[in-house]
Amino acid sequence: KGAIAFKDVHFAYDAARPILKGITFEVPAGKTVAVVGPSGAGKSTLSRLLYRFYDVQEGAITIDGQDVRTVTQKSLRSVIGMVPQDTVLFNDTIAYNIRYGRVSASEAEVEAAAEAAQIAEFIRTLPEGFQAMVGERGLKLSGGEKQRVAIARTILKAPPILILDEATSALDTRTEQEIQSALDVVSRNRTTLVIAHRLSTVINADEIIVLKDGVIAERGTHGELIDRD
Ligand code: ADP
Ligand code: ADP
Repeated sequence: KGAIAFKDVHFAYDAARPILKGITFEVPAGKTVAVVGPSGAGKSTLSRLLYRFYDVQEGAITIDGQDVRTVTQKSLRSVIGMVPQDTVLFNDTIAYNIRYGRVSASEAEVEAAAEAAQIAEFIRTLPEGFQAMVGERGLKLSGGEKQRVAIARTILKAPPILILDEATSALDTRTEQEIQSALDVVSRNRTTLVIAHRLSTVINADEIIVLKDGVIAERGTHGELIDRD
């Protein structure tokens, strides 16, 4: 479930300057497709169109065959989990921030136990100093810590579709690797659209789309794209 199709997608923020000029590709259910390319190529715009921050002007984006323009933003947000580049947290506890974004706050009690277990499990993976802060308010967290919270939130929400929009690009190399392995676990068996800057960070994607100047310049697996260079 959760197959995504971009069909001849055209989009411009400003009519005089087209950003996406006919983009067609699919993310089969449960697979991971990465979009890479230089800054300004239109990569994040693709994820914003899928999430309906904006609507396509020509062509269509579908999820399981249904045009996203016929789906409310609320229900889109219940099937799509987004880990952005810079996570903005509420000025509240980490626990509150992890819970925010759950699909349904009302199906409570049965879930509450599972949720508590999951949060506990997640907290065990944190560095010690960080564990102690989980109940504190108004924290100053590093980029890597914020991304951990964003990932934990996404794990709890358990959406069939995941958008990782440069989720590790603001982090130092070591933190990037840690967060990357957490993301690999979260994206397993989920339909995942990864937006990335560099080819080297998306080695495991089922397909890689190279976007340049609003068109697909190349596509293939990591191995295929490397061979062609
Ligand atoms: P990428 O993710 O590949 O770096 P983006 O999709 O963020 O590229 O942006 C593609 C182009 O669209 C860039 O030239 C950017 O300046 C422009 N752009 C992005 N957001 C807006 C906006 N809200 N209004 C106008 N132009 C925008
Ligand atoms: P809500 O309306 O649910 O409060 P927002 O619309 O502010 O949520 O954003 C939902 C999530 O998407 C947040 O994690 C936010 O950081 C991220 N986000 C908001 N705008 C954009 C954007 N233009 N591109 C990518 N991510 C975004």
